[in-house]
Amino acid sequence: MLSRDAGAPAAGAGELAERLERVRATIAAAALRVGRQPEDVTLVAATKTVPAPLVYQAALLGVRHFGENYVQEAAAKRSALQGTLPPGVCWHLIGHLQTNKAAAALELFDIIETADSFRVAQAISRRAGARAVPVLLEVALGEAPERLGFRPDELERAVAAVRELPGVAVQGLMAVPPPEASLHEVRRLFRRLRELRGQLASTYPDQDWRHLSMGMSGDYEVAIEEGATMVRIGRAIFGERPSKQG
Ligand SMILES: *Cc1c(COP(=O)(O)O)cnc(C)c1O
Repeated sequence: MLSRDAGAPAAGAGELAERLERVRATIAAAALRVGRQPEDVTLVAATKTVPAPLVYQAALLGVRHFGENYVQEAAAKRSALQGTLPPGVCWHLIGHLQTNKAAAALELFDIIETADSFRVAQAISRRAGARAVPVLLEVALGEAPERLGFRPDELERAVAAVRELPGVAVQGLMAVPPPEASLHEVRRLFRRLRELRGQLASTYPDQDWRHLSMGMSGDYEVAIEEGATMVRIGRAIFGERPSKQG
């Protein structure tokens, strides 16, 4: 079975440039293989557990999109980095949003990739104020019933409801395949996400469907081959995260 384990030992600033270069080249090659333009794929550096100085280094190396999973961690990092980052940096929430943290999240993030239920979309809408907050609808791929996200069979109706919410600007779909899925299975799930987007685009042609956020360190080449416009990459750039057990 093909392995999706594509991390590396934790990076220092020196190795970072090399790893980033390798990831960028891999993204470009995957895009070109299927007749796509490399610049149509946005690299989102997934920086959970990555210390602020390394985030700063990545920004110096040209990374402009960062994905964080937790509101609190993002807030601490943003405040450590205050005034140091180049202009044009864009922050993505890529972890589940607790509805009571919606206000804080909207101060920190430019796009919420994880609108995983109508309740979450509602919470964003309530706090949006005058903004139109870019969001992606997270889709539950795979069989496990406890997975976060809209089920494929409820997406059409969910879109109808979310579209009515003021301040919420849907821009596409996002998914995280089950960690135990093989590369072969992951490809099937990524293809399914692309097909779902195609169906939604024919039901709601006036809606913005530009983004498919899919692909992580172990499977981003496959994701790009299947149409990803955003890949969220952590370990392949920053090295292995410390294990939760410590
Ligand atoms: C951690 C995380 C990533 C990055 O995963 P890697 O395997 O480190 O590349 C991408 N997407 C989400 C939602 C994550 O939580």
